[in-house]
Amino acid sequence: MKILFDKVQYTPKDFRFEEGGLLFKGSLTRTGGHSIELEGTINGDVELDCNRCGATFHYPYETTLKLLLSDQIVGNKDDLDIIEFLDGQIDISYILESEINALKSDYLYCPKCDNGEDSFEIEF
Ligand SMILES: [Zn+2]
Repeated sequence: MKILFDKVQYTPKDFRFEEGGLLFKGSLTRTGGHSIELEGTINGDVELDCNRCGATFHYPYETTLKLLLSDQIVGNKDDLDIIEFLDGQIDISYILESEINALKSDYLYCPKCDNGEDSFEIEF
């Protein structure tokens, strides 16, 4: 799903994108000639491989995002939450994909390994 950079104005434009059991929704607001702010949430189930036992499991994912989008090269990249879309098209699916890839690069354990049999406790 792509949104033209020029179509986003100073009043927030809502978007909603669903893919692979995930819902990514939020709004885009122009903050300057070449900058757009994205605020949104991602919700859903992500299929992950356990880093310990390798089992595939479903991870209930929920996150809020606040990103700055630019249609030109950003000189100051100290702020890592800037994404450049030099072709003038905001690629919503790309943003969702990079968030999920970042999640997958974390060390995540399936519920079984995460609890660890030794330290498993039930709280009442
Ligand atoms: Zn595991």
